[in-house]
Amino acid sequence: MRNYFRSIYYLYDLLSHIHWDQEKLKEYQNKELRKVINYAYEYVPFYHRLFKENKINPSDIRNIEDLNRIPIIRKENMRKNITEVISRKYRVQDLIKLETSGSTGKPFPVYITMKEDDYRKAKHLRANIYCGQKLRDRLVALTSPSHMTKVPKIMRTLGIYYWDFVSVFDSIEDQIAKIESLRPDILDGYSTSLTILAKELEKRGIKTINPRFLISGAELLDNHMREIIERVFEASVYDQYSIVEVERISSQCPIKKGYHIDADSLIIQFVDNNGEEVSIGEGGEIVCTSLFSYAMPFIRYAIGDIGVPTDETCECGITLPLMKIIEGRKDSLIPLPDGRILSPRMFSITVNSFSEIEKVDQFQVIQKKLDLFEFRIKKKNENDDEKILESKLRAHLLKMLNLLSDMVEIKIIFVDDIPLEKTGKMRSIISQIN
Ligand SMILES: [Zn+2]
Repeated sequence: MRNYFRSIYYLYDLLSHIHWDQEKLKEYQNKELRKVINYAYEYVPFYHRLFKENKINPSDIRNIEDLNRIPIIRKENMRKNITEVISRKYRVQDLIKLETSGSTGKPFPVYITMKEDDYRKAKHLRANIYCGQKLRDRLVALTSPSHMTKVPKIMRTLGIYYWDFVSVFDSIEDQIAKIESLRPDILDGYSTSLTILAKELEKRGIKTINPRFLISGAELLDNHMREIIERVFEASVYDQYSIVEVERISSQCPIKKGYHIDADSLIIQFVDNNGEEVSIGEGGEIVCTSLFSYAMPFIRYAIGDIGVPTDETCECGITLPLMKIIEGRKDSLIPLPDGRILSPRMFSITVNSFSEIEKVDQFQVIQKKLDLFEFRIKKKNENDDEKILESKLRAHLLKMLNLLSDMVEIKIIFVDDIPLEKTGKMRSIISQIN
């Protein structure tokens, strides 16, 4: 059952942590870490086995430094063992299922409890409050339709911390018209969607959307994108770094010195190729241990993005540690023959919302020409009928992306493997025409 007082309590509690000194934070992290480790060992078969195989007793993990004894886990390890990564205390059908639509093209369901969902909402809101969101501000989120139903009714009724949504799948004209009429104090969206919107507004000379500030996320916001957004809206854009698995990881405050880490709900480590923690100021892969995920714990979970730990302090007064992000999920913008430009997110959302996504092990979209898309699909089960899957997927793609079959050609190819990029990274959406 959803409990709104619980969400408010979580928010209040989380806000009370932002001025903690380092010692108090560490003490709290260690205490919560021990709880999660014991729980995962006891109730989650995947971690029980992992600990056994590595001869780790839960009592060996007393503090953050001990975490390094646990091997690094990747999405792939969890995907392969999806039934075993969920706590035995819950029935899957009672949990909320979130689908990651990250950049790896490998659909990965994440299961959370209602309580965790409330906590995640509070985490999300706290980051917005850092940037100046006030109780009665109207926030408009330019996002995926799958996120649109998540505003608690009571908040809508009271008009506090209230969200409105505009779909990234709407045409750019509709997006502009809807956002104009909603008159947002804060405009939130995927970095690429906000960039596309800003470019269109500039091109059309429209100056009627005037948020006090903007919040971007989901994809790396580079300097070029930031510059366009801030120039067009004449307002600051604050970037937030989050992943579906654990919600907010870190976010910018108005000082923008770095990203304040949600260190009271996550332990974030930065590791080199050998899994060793890097020094302050050096880049390393971000490895995350969640202190609040119990239905599906994330312990020593490598995200694939690169970040830099820093020991700088921030003038904003928030004492949660800072990190910098140097390299993250970055995909190409996708131009269409009818002049639209789509955010790469829209492709991953579209594929992930396919009714038979559970038959897809991995996918990659390559725009070969302006009007030619190649969808590479690796099936989970060899025996699944390709013809049926192909025709259903094609119909879904055309409908969701609002494409006409005579405007673009969609080739669906079934492959045995999708190779990594030269960099060793996996990109799910690639445009070869720029
Ligand atoms: Zn700050």
